[in-house]
Amino acid sequence: MQIENSLCDYDAVEAINLEMRGLLDNLVQQKYFKFYKLNLYGTCPFWTENHLCMNKDCGVAVVDEKTIPEEWTSAALGAISSPMGGKHFQPFQSCNLKDQDFCQVDDEAISEGVYVDLMENPERFTGYSGPSAAKVWDAIYNENCFNVAQKMQLAADCEQCSLDREAVEEDLAETVQNAAVSGISFAQNPLSLEVGHTGHGHGHQDKPKQGAGLGDDTSPFVDPAMNLLAAGAAAQEEEMCLEKRVFYRMISGLHASISIHICDEYFNQTSGVWGPNLECFVSRVGAHPDRLENIFFDYSILVRAVTKLSGYLRDYEFCTGNPDEDAKVKAMVDKLIAVSNKSPAIFDEKAMFVGPGAQALKLEFRDHFRNITKIMDCVGCEKCRLWGKVQTSGLGTALKVLFSYNDEHLNPIKHPNLLQRTEIVALFNTLNRVSESVASIARFRTLYMEQHGLP
Ligand code: FAD
Repeated sequence: MQIENSLCDYDAVEAINLEMRGLLDNLVQQKYFKFYKLNLYGTCPFWTENHLCMNKDCGVAVVDEKTIPEEWTSAALGAISSPMGGKHFQPFQSCNLKDQDFCQVDDEAISEGVYVDLMENPERFTGYSGPSAAKVWDAIYNENCFNVAQKMQLAADCEQCSLDREAVEEDLAETVQNAAVSGISFAQNPLSLEVGHTGHGHGHQDKPKQGAGLGDDTSPFVDPAMNLLAAGAAAQEEEMCLEKRVFYRMISGLHASISIHICDEYFNQTSGVWGPNLECFVSRVGAHPDRLENIFFDYSILVRAVTKLSGYLRDYEFCTGNPDEDAKVKAMVDKLIAVSNKSPAIFDEKAMFVGPGAQALKLEFRDHFRNITKIMDCVGCEKCRLWGKVQTSGLGTALKVLFSYNDEHLNPIKHPNLLQRTEIVALFNTLNRVSESVASIARFRTLYMEQHGLP
C-alpha cells in the first residue's frame, strides 16, 4: 500500500525538504503567517486539577492588537458585513465546528482570543514535564482507542483504554519473544506491515536505505536493545486497521517532532547555555525507528495537503493590509507550491476510508482528532499549549483538506470560506515545524557521527 511503502523513501523526503526549508523559514516570518490568534486560556474540559508550569520559559508574550493589521482585528471583523481586501477575500467569519472540520478552530473573531507572534515564542525546551505532561500525552494516545473512548467522557474511557493497552502490551511481549525465538527481526521495518499482515518476511524495498540513519540496522541511532521497542510498535500496529495506524502515527510523529524541538533547543541548567542536546535526542527519538519514521509520515501528510491545496492557494488573497506585502507572500507561497508539486506522491489519501463502514470510521476518526485539539486546553504550560494548538490545528487542517473536500470544492472563487486564515497559518507553521525536525535529524546524525568518531 502506498501510504506504507512510500515512507521508506527518506532520500526523496530529505531532498524535497532541502528545497522547502529556506522557503518555509522565510514564509513563517511574514506578518501574515507569524501572527496567530487563539484562545490561550481555555479551561481543560476533561479534568479539573491542572498544574501550571511557572517557569519563565513556559510563558507566552501576547501581542497588542494595535500591531495587527486592522482588517484582522475583532473590532473590524465585528463591523464587516461585506467582502473586503480583494475580490475573493472573505474575512474571518464566525465559525462553529463544521462537519468537515477535524479540529476545533480558534476563530479570528473570537473575543476571548489573543494574538501571538509565533516568531517571538519559539517552540523549545521549557522544563514542562512530570505528571501533568504525562497525563496529557496519555489522554492523547488514548484517543487512538477507537470505539472505546467516547467524546467528552475521557476520564472513564481512558481507564478502559489503558486496560486494553496493557492487554495488547502483554500480547506484544509474547509476540516479540516468539519472534526472537524464530529469528524474526520486526525492527527490520516496523512500517512495512499491511492490513492483516503478520509483519514477517517483508521485502527489501520497504527497508530504509543504508546510511539514511533511520530504522536501518546500521543506523547510528538504533541501539539493538531498542529494537524491541520498535518491534512492540510494529506488533501493536498489527492490531489496527489502516486508519487507526494512520491516526497513531500522526500523533506519535507530532510527539516525536515536539521532542526534537525540545532537544534541539535545550537549556543546559548547569552551563546556562541553550543548544542541541544529543543525548536527549537519542533517548527520546533517535533510538526509536518508529518515532523517526512517524515524523516523516507527518511531513508526507502535510506536503500532500499543500499539494492538494495548490489551486486554492494560487487564487487565494493573502491580505496583510499592504498590497506589496500581499504580493510578496503570494510569490513565496507560489514557490512553495511549485516545490510541493514536484514531490513524489508520498501519501495517498484515497487509500483511506474506503469499503464498508468507511463513513462511520471517518466520523470517528474526525471526532477523535477533534478531541485531541480540545485536550490542548489541558496542557499546563502556555508555550507548549500554544504550539500544541498550532500543530494540532495544522494537522487537522491537512486532514480537512485531504478528507473533507474534493478538488472541485477547493476553489476559492466558488467557495471562498473553506479555510480561515488561522487554518492556513496553522498548516504552514506546522509544516515548517515538522520540516525543521526533518532537518534536525540530519544535524543530530552528523553530531552523533562526530562524537563517536564515525566516518
Ligand atoms: P514524554 O515526551 O512526556 O513521553 C511520555 C511517554 O510517551 C514516554 O515515556 C514514551 O513511552 C511515550 N512516547 C514518547 N515519545 C513518543 C512518540 N513519539 N511516539 C509514541 N510514544 C512516545 N516541553 C517542552 O520543554 N517544550 C515544549 O514546547 C513542549 N510542548 C509540549 C506540548 C504538548 C502538547 C505536551 C503534552 C507536552 C509538551 N512538552 C513540552 C512536554 C514534553 O513533551 C514532555 O512531556 C516532557 O519533556 C517530559 O518528557 P518525557 O521524557 O518524560 O517523555
